[in-house]
Amino acid sequence: MANSIHLLPDHIANQIAAGEVIQRPASAVKELLENAVDAGATEIKLIINDAGKALIQVIDNGKGMNPIDAQNAFARHATSKISSIEDLFQIRTMGFRGEALASIAAVAQVSLKTRQAEDEIGTSVVIENSQVSETSPVACPVGTNISMKNLFFNVPARRNFLKSNSAELKHIIEEFTRVALAFPEIYFSLTNNGQDVFHWESGSFKQRAIHVLGNSYQAKLVAVGEKTDYLTISGFVGKPETAKKTRSDQYFFVNRRFIKSAYLHHAIANAFDGLIPKESFPSYILYIDVDPSKVDINVHPTKQEIKFEDDKIIYAFVQAAVKHALAQFSIAPSLDFSLDANIQQLDAIQKPFSEQQRNNTASSSLYTGFTQKNQAHFIPRVSEAERSEWKSFFSDIPSTDNQNGLTENNNENFIVKSSSMGLYKESEGLTINEDATLLQINNTYILAPAQAGYILVHQQLAHERVLYEKYQKASVQPHATQKSLFPVVLELSVADAILLEEIIEDLAIIGYEIEPFGQNSFIIQGIPADVISGNEKNAIELLLEQFKHFSGDIKFSKREKLIRCMARQSAIKAGQSLNQKEMHGLIESLLACDTPIVTATGAPTYIDFKEAYLDGLFTK
Ligand code: ADP
Ligand code: MG
Repeated sequence: MANSIHLLPDHIANQIAAGEVIQRPASAVKELLENAVDAGATEIKLIINDAGKALIQVIDNGKGMNPIDAQNAFARHATSKISSIEDLFQIRTMGFRGEALASIAAVAQVSLKTRQAEDEIGTSVVIENSQVSETSPVACPVGTNISMKNLFFNVPARRNFLKSNSAELKHIIEEFTRVALAFPEIYFSLTNNGQDVFHWESGSFKQRAIHVLGNSYQAKLVAVGEKTDYLTISGFVGKPETAKKTRSDQYFFVNRRFIKSAYLHHAIANAFDGLIPKESFPSYILYIDVDPSKVDINVHPTKQEIKFEDDKIIYAFVQAAVKHALAQFSIAPSLDFSLDANIQQLDAIQKPFSEQQRNNTASSSLYTGFTQKNQAHFIPRVSEAERSEWKSFFSDIPSTDNQNGLTENNNENFIVKSSSMGLYKESEGLTINEDATLLQINNTYILAPAQAGYILVHQQLAHERVLYEKYQKASVQPHATQKSLFPVVLELSVADAILLEEIIEDLAIIGYEIEPFGQNSFIIQGIPADVISGNEKNAIELLLEQFKHFSGDIKFSKREKLIRCMARQSAIKAGQSLNQKEMHGLIESLLACDTPIVTATGAPTYIDFKEAYLDGLFTK
């Protein structure tokens, strides 16, 4: 009997393996651009014809190859980037598997010209069907000029599988853009069929982002930047108005490598929650840098996936960093996002902070020194043992379901619920020990020792934030109502009656049950569970007053105005004395807020004084 198993000839084995790495012109573009980056080039030119089907050429001014390396580069598993298994865990270069050039040589006609600075003459190599068919000395500039022609000329099935030129060009531009965004210090150009498509001068990350997104983004990017011992995040998110119906303009890089991560995308989307319409996608270009040994990049290079050693920390960090950036620009707390795009363009919305406010905030310790440890979101380097605690810490962040320790407590006007960990759970990495003795100053400020320093809370503003978020969330899940035992009748002026009619439904959502009761009269059947009963009549009248005051303000929806008024009106006031339990309850609720640091109108709710800052005050 004849043997039925036989070894595939090399060139067929190579073509099969190549299919994994080179699926379309864009995959070859990615590999060649990354090789040029790895070679330390400061200028990289990409030239294509027919969307890469006829020609893909990359010219770089990197370190080049000597004659021997130039030939060896095309052998499978030829790489200069790893020589031991340990290297695998410290990879900072783009490629390392030594597969790309071999794969390309298996499916295209390749020619290479390359020279190192120390050599006077360069090398030219021509490859046909994975075999070096010609090598010769050649005069050429320092760097590498590699071109591949007629992709898949020898694999017709694959060639036929390619899409239209415009579709393939789109993929190429995508890969080109990703590499260019990761390395703004490098000049990149792209030429298609002799036409200049892009040429991007080297520059800052911001400049490159503008190259890619277009000039109109100059004023629409919010910088994100936080640094810890564990990782660094930088880059930009688009202001909410730049959110799109499709997932374009979303870039995430880890150690300058473009990655796709549904998980991290979720973290960013979460930070934008409530700021952009559902079903729309924020734009972002974010860079995370982390010790390479903390991420597993030993996944297939074309899959662009990544595994973090501790992805919960990364998630929380990314989310906090983006939220912080948005809050800093006063976007998160003060915009009403049910507004249409035209209104969002208004100056008042674009620049919700006055210069004075901005300066005040900028000089508060909350915002100074990102790179120091007194930053708002500093995540300390944690030991292995502590890390598991951090994990549960982050996974315990309350969701939007009103579990934030807010339960009814009429006597104290706001709510106390003790936490199970002995620490408040919140979103900003800030913790107040449950047993700590708090100090109320002037019946207005609360001084609370935090893990590294203390925070100074403004009781009224803090409570305003707590109530604001509570009422905001009520529109998802209507707020609890307490039925009045003795319904109160409210008689209003014609104007006020019309106004009340207008907001009666919104009031219902936050817990006010009010019904028309004949000529300009209303009957109050129920009030929010946490409002003290007895003065509901006053409360509604006051609410109407405040509402009128805001009513000229077209920036905000009715609902938003109402929520703001309610929050302001019901907040405990400065000057009211609070006991320990009340103070703890307030701070716990505050720290559980999505945006604890400012009120809806942008006033700080607390100031964070870090140990490092305090130390600084006492050094000569
Ligand atoms: P990898 O990038 O995974 O090492 P490749 O097949 O892409 O594998 O490249 C093989 C080797 O060829 C690289 O390790 C590098 O030494 C060399 N090389 C490839 N492209 C270039 C270039 N543009 N400039 C200098 N050397 C290069
Ligand atoms: Mg490579």
